[in-house]
Amino acid sequence: MSDCVFCKIIAGQIPATRVHEDEHTLAFMDIGQVNPGHVLVTVKKHADNLYALDDVQAAAVARTSARLARAIRDSLKPEGLSVYQANGKAAGQTVFHYHVHLVPRHEADGMELTWPVKNPPREKLEDCAGKIRAKMG
Ligand code: 5GP
Ligand code: ZN
Repeated sequence: MSDCVFCKIIAGQIPATRVHEDEHTLAFMDIGQVNPGHVLVTVKKHADNLYALDDVQAAAVARTSARLARAIRDSLKPEGLSVYQANGKAAGQTVFHYHVHLVPRHEADGMELTWPVKNPPREKLEDCAGKIRAKMG
């Protein structure tokens, strides 16, 4: 995609601090650095979001993310690590080329995600799960 900033990084047309790459993924430092060591894992072939990934890309991102998480843990020794991934504007996505955030975490580091639990009754869970199940291949 010619107007996609992450495609331009992958093609080497604009600079980025690269961390790791393989056949299907490229990982580079997020320019914003929520905490030191904040890395983005992207797919090399443009996909807008999680919905658009094929199975090979999905597996490749999972593998790269797990490998990088261990490298971040062993090198920077954060107290924790959050994995964040947004799909669509309503979910907070701002760059529409699929990517996973790996964010090293520390106590009281200011990164927050509100988690407004609803604790619905079991029937609601069953109803919702049934609808999702019906769409699985
Ligand atoms: P999103 O909000 O879509 O989940 O995350 C997009 C991320 O991309 C942001 O954290 C932002 O800092 C990062 N980002 C945006 N433009 C660039 C860029 O040109 N280079 C790098 N390295 N990161 C970028
Ligand atoms: Zn792209």
